Amino acid sequence: MEWHEGWRIVGDPSTGHAKAELLPMPTCAFCGGVGRREIVLNGVTRAGKCRCQRVVDRVALFNIAGIPARHAKCSLESFDQSLPGAKPGWDTAKSWLDRFRPDQEGQGLVLSGEPGRGKTHLMVAVVRELIFRHGVEVRFVEFTHLLSRIREGMDRGDGDATTLTPLVKVPVLAIDELGKGRKTDWELTIIDEIVTRRYNSGGVLLATTNFLFRPYRPEELRQIQQARERGGASLAHGALEQLSDRLGDRVFSRLRETVRFGGVVGEDYRALRSVK
Ligand SMILES: [Zn+2]
Repeated sequence: MEWHEGWRIVGDPSTGHAKAELLPMPTCAFCGGVGRREIVLNGVTRAGKCRCQRVVDRVALFNIAGIPARHAKCSLESFDQSLPGAKPGWDTAKSWLDRFRPDQEGQGLVLSGEPGRGKTHLMVAVVRELIFRHGVEVRFVEFTHLLSRIREGMDRGDGDATTLTPLVKVPVLAIDELGKGRKTDWELTIIDEIVTRRYNSGGVLLATTNFLFRPYRPEELRQIQQARERGGASLAHGALEQLSDRLGDRVFSRLRETVRFGGVVGEDYRALRSVK
């Protein structure tokens, strides 16, 4: 459990999601707790939301983001940068965030690396900052869940408006494990549709992937090899497969135009934990 000014995040077992909660705060001195107040600007009086409502709105935004409960503690602060190779991933996430503007179009971020390197932790940390620092609406989805939800919706006869449009319209879409799955023609069509429509509308895409966006550099291969030897981790499934092969050239080239790719090499935390 973590505490911040006015809010905290907990895992909610009943929904399986991370949940933000408002903490008791002293009564607002500006609005007396009503949430609205009159502001006089250049002699004109206007009623508007009081600034104390910002935290209320952001807690609500967090609670529709769909972050799994198991990631409730993931923040930039809680990411262990001391493990070899973990710092570059953290730096990538931090520098992307520092450049983020709420009105930016495209320029998303894809974090690539083997399983267990903390990619999802970093992406959830980014999502949290986008919500609490910038008040941006974000939707977090796991790639395979996303596909099965769309398929179920289509099987029920739901139209585009309920299946795909919400994923296209949300200002920031965060996809965990992009490219995972069987790679059927149907799956490729769906991901093409989402990426292309978001590309056209200027939406920001965040993603993690176990697949490579470029071949490893020799020093990265060395680091991975060393981590494997220390952690006893086996060669991760698909570790050397390219994202372009998983998604097709068309989708991959759209991604290349609209996202920044970052490598998360690091140690395999899960493997390390299991040998301790
Ligand atoms: Zn107030």
